Amino acid sequence: MGSIEALFSAAAKARLSAYAPYSGFSVGAALRTVSGAIFSGANVENAAYPIGTCAEAAAIAAMVAAGQRRIAEILIIGEGDALVTPCGACRQRMREFAGEDAKIYIAGITGVRATFTLGVLLPAAFGPSMTKADQLEREHGGGPASAPVRRR
Ligand SMILES: [Zn+2]
Repeated sequence: MGSIEALFSAAAKARLSAYAPYSGFSVGAALRTVSGAIFSGANVENAAYPIGTCAEAAAIAAMVAAGQRRIAEILIIGEGDALVTPCGACRQRMREFAGEDAKIYIAGITGVRATFTLGVLLPAAFGPSMTKADQLEREHGGGPASAPVRRR
């Protein structure tokens, strides 16, 4: 299975499990880390609307929980005529773990419709390189995106 096909399959499967009783708008996302692992997520709505979470956020959380930190590419799938591009908050969430060259595939039910880079979707981004944590990384190793996972 090719690179994009595997991501599409994982995102489409996750989308089927989305919890979207309020909007009826199910979204799935799947990302591939630089190590080749794939993590997926779906949107999770809530009766208290603002605390609902996006599919991309769920996929990123699954990646972090598995001890991985670097996104190579991500695919988002949703229905409708308009491209289901990531919301502003998710673009920033991706920036924490992905460089501006990371590919972002926007898919509909039948396949990929458009491809962007993170740099195009979030130009002049604020990111880890501007923080004190990144200075510590350069001086001592470690840091936000490359931080080792503590194991007990
Ligand atoms: Zn979002």
